[in-house]
Amino acid sequence: MDIGKRPGDTWQLIISRNWAAVSPAGFRMSYSDDVEGKKNADMWAKTGKDLEGNTEKDTAEHIPTYSELLKLAVENKSPLRERKVLSVFDFDDTIALTDSWIYVLKNGKEIKKLDPAQFAVYKPRPGETFDFRDFDKKLRNPRLIKQNAELLIKQLDKARRSARGTRKVTILTARRLGAPITSFFRSIGIDVYVVPLGSANPKDKADWIEKQIRKGYDTVYFMDDSPKNIRAVDNMLTRYPRVKSLTKLIR
Ligand SMILES: [Mg+2]
Repeated sequence: MDIGKRPGDTWQLIISRNWAAVSPAGFRMSYSDDVEGKKNADMWAKTGKDLEGNTEKDTAEHIPTYSELLKLAVENKSPLRERKVLSVFDFDDTIALTDSWIYVLKNGKEIKKLDPAQFAVYKPRPGETFDFRDFDKKLRNPRLIKQNAELLIKQLDKARRSARGTRKVTILTARRLGAPITSFFRSIGIDVYVVPLGSANPKDKADWIEKQIRKGYDTVYFMDDSPKNIRAVDNMLTRYPRVKSLTKLIR
């Protein structure tokens, strides 16, 4: 179907209460209660020109109708597309607290232990390494952080209700093993995909999210209690100005 797409045009369909087609020339049509769209539509009806004085010929050979856009969107065979949303949650001290420690080693000797919140802001001194052995075991005394867990559940519900492949919800953890987290969630009736990075390097979280952006996710939510992780992800996102994002530091 010809929807008036000219060579070089990229059309974007935003599927929401406000339907809109946007071309690089800035021509915009809305088919909803969007105020600007309604003004434009009224002007078209009266004068055959839009608010900027463009005639139909100035803008496109053929203007898609609402039903044409809808049909194309449903068929998903068009240059139009909907946004793909990725929601990423850290686990420890973001979704839940557990009784686990990170041990600080120097020359192979344990010199102190940190809880995940302390670890999130810890600056290691030269020669120090970490031992994450507590994080490979069954979760000890897990307690959900209610308001964040509710956000996770809300995102999971949304993903379940939306079209396949348009929403992904992930737990992204520095832990080496995902199984203790997965089985904890199962025990409370939550089914969520867990990605264990096996690395506490903030760049690895940013890299994982960047890979998803390359796969087509153009809306990103990220929640973490580590300022280092938030900074790394924010930094990466500056390279993708078209990606809508919301990063949230849990305190
Ligand atoms: Mg954490």
